[in-house]
Amino acid sequence: MDNGSQVTNTKLDLTNQNQQKVLRSFKHQIDTLSQFILRLSKFYEGAVPALDKELQTLRGHLGGKINFTLAEVSVGKLTALLMENSDQVRLQNQKSHNLIENAIQSLQENNGLPEALKEDAQAFLRQVRQSQASVFTSLPHFEKALELFQKALINFQARKAEPPPGESLPLQNATLVLHKEITDELRELVSQLTTSAKEDPQLKKVRDQLAKGLDHEQLLECCLIIIRTILREVIHERKHAERFVSSLHSTLDKVSQSVTHSIEKSESTFQLKTDNTAQLKQQVLNIEVAIDEAENIKLLRKQAGEYLAKIAATIDTREKADQDEQRVLMKLLNEMRDQLSHLEQETSEYKQRLLQQKYRSHHDELTQIPNRSAYNDRIELEYRRWRRYGTELSMALVDVDHFKTINDNYGHAAGDKTLQVIAQQMSKCLRSTDFLARWGGEEFVLLFPQTSEGELEAALEKVRLQIAKIPFRFKQQSVKITVSIGAASFIEGDDVHRVFERADRALYTAKTQGRNRSVIDQGKK
Ligand code: GH3
Ligand code: MG
Ligand code: MG
Repeated sequence: MDNGSQVTNTKLDLTNQNQQKVLRSFKHQIDTLSQFILRLSKFYEGAVPALDKELQTLRGHLGGKINFTLAEVSVGKLTALLMENSDQVRLQNQKSHNLIENAIQSLQENNGLPEALKEDAQAFLRQVRQSQASVFTSLPHFEKALELFQKALINFQARKAEPPPGESLPLQNATLVLHKEITDELRELVSQLTTSAKEDPQLKKVRDQLAKGLDHEQLLECCLIIIRTILREVIHERKHAERFVSSLHSTLDKVSQSVTHSIEKSESTFQLKTDNTAQLKQQVLNIEVAIDEAENIKLLRKQAGEYLAKIAATIDTREKADQDEQRVLMKLLNEMRDQLSHLEQETSEYKQRLLQQKYRSHHDELTQIPNRSAYNDRIELEYRRWRRYGTELSMALVDVDHFKTINDNYGHAAGDKTLQVIAQQMSKCLRSTDFLARWGGEEFVLLFPQTSEGELEAALEKVRLQIAKIPFRFKQQSVKITVSIGAASFIEGDDVHRVFERADRALYTAKTQGRNRSVIDQGKK
């Protein structure tokens, strides 16, 4: 072997060694990558059966002796499957997110929860609301939610075993519903009380408590205070009505006395006039007789003069009686006019009072739109019309989304203002034949008579979008406020209660699907 070929061989050896080194490193990288894919595939195991199957196939191709060609085919199939399922996964994530949010919210609102745990739940709720729905956020959120529920459960069990003296037991689910219903009713009742009653400090406290939420015992206490106030109002009102009736009585009495007096006076004047006429007749007769029997003109003239003087006196008396009668009549007329105008004023004041009472009993004090009692009247009327004429009738429930956070973050007054603006905006969106009322709290009820399904959908979307467009600003911050709407239409055999329940279910669906949407119940259609 010459020198030249030795050098060439050495170079070849070196190249070979280098290639083997590169190949070894390449194989090591592929092994690492395969291991990584295997672990990753294990992570997704159990999500979707079709995906599971394909992942198992891929693991087969990558485990042991790697078959790149088949692995590539498998990766292609997996990509298609993943794309197909991504929407479903997104929806699933949103559902999990909503589930956590709702669960924590109801936990946080539970009156039996200790304050520290409540604050913990509130902070967590804020964190959940600010985060995006994804697999990676859901798991830690579920863990935290479970931890909170576990703490709450331990607390409840402890309280159940030994309720602390003077403290009420945590409310059960059915009781909670009843509790909310009573709270709403009481709020409604308080809003119907007169302004002076509402200024009572005790009642002001009741109003605050009802708005902020209260426990069982406080609710009972509020009931008592409201009942007492209503009773006071009723007694006051009855006294007012009694005063009005008695004043009416006395006015009529005075008028009747004046008329009686005037009639008596008229009767005596009538008698006087009758006597007077008889006297006149007699005096004329006397003159006639004197003329017939007259023998000389001088005597006749003297007698006639005497009779004529008597006639003149009789006419004077009659004239005086006439004037007297007229005066009495005028006096009576004036008295009657005064009494009548007094009566008119009293009646109009009372009518005004009744009108105000009627307005108050049919309008919500805060938003000035019809209240639940007005809704009860209207739905009865629309329901009767629907049954009689069979025209379309639909009902919608509108609930402000996350309203509690508005109160919590910006104060109760901001919450009140929000409700006023939303109510005004909704009224503007509706046709004059539609009906809007405040159902209670941050919930409203709408009635759409003679509205087709398409028109209903459009009307609800209009309401929803108009509200979402309102540029709310609190504490120098722009705040977007949305509503969720659930609606249902009356169908054969329906009654009001059933339609309300369907609309309520649709509202619940709108909430769980992510809020800021309207859902129309498809019911038995
Ligand atoms: P969701 O999206 O699930 O409806 O959440 P939410 O917070 O709106 O619902 P939730 O029922 O938990 O809270 C309603 C809150 O509305 C609780 C109550 O304090 C408040 N609220 C009820 N009536 C009034 C009111 O007249 N004025 C104010 N400011 N707040 C009220
Ligand atoms: Mg609500
Ligand atoms: Mg709400």
